[in-house]
Amino acid sequence: SNLNGPKPIRRLEEAVINRIAAGEIIHRPSSALKELLENCLDAGATSIRVTAKDGGMKLLQVQDNGSGIRKADLLILAERFTTSKISSFKDLERLTTYGFRGEALASVSYVSQLSVVTKTKSDTCAWKATYVDGRLASKDGSPAEPKACAGNDGTIINVENLFYNTPTRLSSLRGSSEEYSRILDVVTKYAVHNPHVSFTCKKSGSSAPDITTPSGSSVKQAIGQLYGQTIAKELLETKVSSNEDSSMVVDEAEEAWAAEVFFTSPNYQAKKMVFLLFINHRLVESPRIKKALETIYTGILPKGASPFVYLSLQIDPRSVDVNVHPTKREVHFLDEEQTTQKICDAVHAILVGQNQSKTFEYQT
Ligand code: ADP
Ligand code: MG
Repeated sequence: SNLNGPKPIRRLEEAVINRIAAGEIIHRPSSALKELLENCLDAGATSIRVTAKDGGMKLLQVQDNGSGIRKADLLILAERFTTSKISSFKDLERLTTYGFRGEALASVSYVSQLSVVTKTKSDTCAWKATYVDGRLASKDGSPAEPKACAGNDGTIINVENLFYNTPTRLSSLRGSSEEYSRILDVVTKYAVHNPHVSFTCKKSGSSAPDITTPSGSSVKQAIGQLYGQTIAKELLETKVSSNEDSSMVVDEAEEAWAAEVFFTSPNYQAKKMVFLLFINHRLVESPRIKKALETIYTGILPKGASPFVYLSLQIDPRSVDVNVHPTKREVHFLDEEQTTQKICDAVHAILVGQNQSKTFEYQT
């Protein structure tokens, strides 16, 4: 009819809506992995084993020894907005878990073949469930009930054939070795931040893991083990918080925060900056904070040399907006600039002290 007239507005099918939403959360194997690791940590795991086939594109498996999932919850496990972690909007203000919106497993199930084997302590056997598009179903899409099987306490999540149904996304991925190195990077960073948890990461079919960490070590030990002793040897450390110099009256409304920083001394010089940033235990990115820290080292390090910095920042959950980005990767918080400045000042003071003592050593 009228070519220039308005086109009719249609309601998208639910599965289409959910697949679009899933694409915003799951960009590649490593972003799926991040969600899965956070779930393991939320479940109180002390051991997490990651296996990847074809850079995680054929298979991404994450096994933990956490709480397990109740059999009764398996029915809605992979539906959107089903979560055990919050029950009201207000709960977002005192969030202590990584997850909160119950979208991760749902998203995974819309862009891959998802299966779960899980056992709680009180279960006498494990249960295996497979999902397609948020629902219990076998790979051909026909409904499938959870099946009893053998298994350890905890949960195994299998993500198979990621993006099999979204070819454009699939073709946007890099080769398996590039995707696998991103997987290693995510595991490495979570292993540094959670040195109490034992991590392994390996390629499927290989007997030697590429990453193994023991449980019960320290951040410094983990950095040494994962990034090398050259870095660990030159590691300085400081803690900074909002109310250090609070001889002044602290305003009730003032945002409390505390930071722990591990950073290399001027003796360590890398080609590219390695920066690990965790805000309220979430691995996030902040080009601004990274830049600020990198800038401290100009004038301290020779031109072209860069440091290693690990920063763990804990902020009153009320002043963090974790809800900005579906991947929760970008986080904004109140007084970001001042907080960053204060952390940088503390790091700078120590580095300058280091530099002086170094000069001093040479003089004597
Ligand atoms: P969220 O983490 O936001 O709640 P997810 O889709 O990631 O949403 O997970 C949905 C629910 O499944 C979680 O709230 C949790 O109860 C359960 N769950 C997921 N992974 C695990 C796991 N590894 N161990 C125990 N429970 C899990
Ligand atoms: Mg989650």
